[in-house]
Amino acid sequence: MKARILIVEDEPAIVDNLEYALQTEGFATMSRATGGGVPSLLESERIDLIILDIGLPDVNGLELCKTIRQHHSVPVIFLTARAEEVDRVVGLEIGADDYVVKPFSPRELCARVKAVLRRTRCAPSATASAPPLEVVDHKHCVRCFGQPLELSRYEYALLKILVEHPGQVFSREHLMDRVWDDPLASMDRTVDAHIKNIRKKIKAVQPEFDPIVTHRGIGYALKENP
Ligand code: CA
Repeated sequence: MKARILIVEDEPAIVDNLEYALQTEGFATMSRATGGGVPSLLESERIDLIILDIGLPDVNGLELCKTIRQHHSVPVIFLTARAEEVDRVVGLEIGADDYVVKPFSPRELCARVKAVLRRTRCAPSATASAPPLEVVDHKHCVRCFGQPLELSRYEYALLKILVEHPGQVFSREHLMDRVWDDPLASMDRTVDAHIKNIRKKIKAVQPEFDPIVTHRGIGYALKENP
C-alpha cells in the first residue's frame, strides 16, 4: 500500500512541485491550503505523514501541530520560510520529526520523507497498540504484536484454533481431528512438535511472550489474557 502524504501549504506552486516529486517517488498525496480542517481530516482518512507549512493563512503551523499531537502520532515535517522559525521548531517540544527551510528542492524533501517514514515505521510505538495475537483469516496468517508469523500450514491451523478460543483446553486428539486430514496417520507428538515450533516463532518476535499453556496429559490452551 502506498504511503499517503498530506501537504498543508498555501502556495500553489510549492504544492504542485511537491505533489509531482512525491508521486514520482511512489507516494499518494493529498493537499490542503489551510490548516483548520486538518484535525478532522485525520479522523476520517489514513495519513502516513504530514508536510506542514508554518505560515498558513488561517492558523499557525506550530499551533496546528500541537493540536494534532493531542490525538495523533503521525509524523510531521515542517516547511519554514524563515531561518528564525527553525529555532522555534527545534526548541519547542511539539514533536516535529524534521523541517525544511524554503526554498528547498523537492528531491531533498522526498529524501527526508522517506527517512522519517523509515524511522517511525520501525518505532515500537507503531506496533504497541497491536494485539498480542491476531488471526488474519483472508491472509492465512497470524500476527504477533503486528508482525506476521511465518507458519507452516499445520502450525497456522493449530494456532488459529487456540487463538480463537482463549482459555479453552484442547486435547491433542481434538486438535489432530481438526487440523490433520488423516489424524490416524499421525502420532500425538506431532502436535507437540508443531506447538514447539509455534512457540519458537512467537519467541523470535517477542522473547518474553509465551501465550500457550501446556496441560500435562491433556493438551494445550491459549492463556485467557495472553
Ligand atoms: Ca505559507
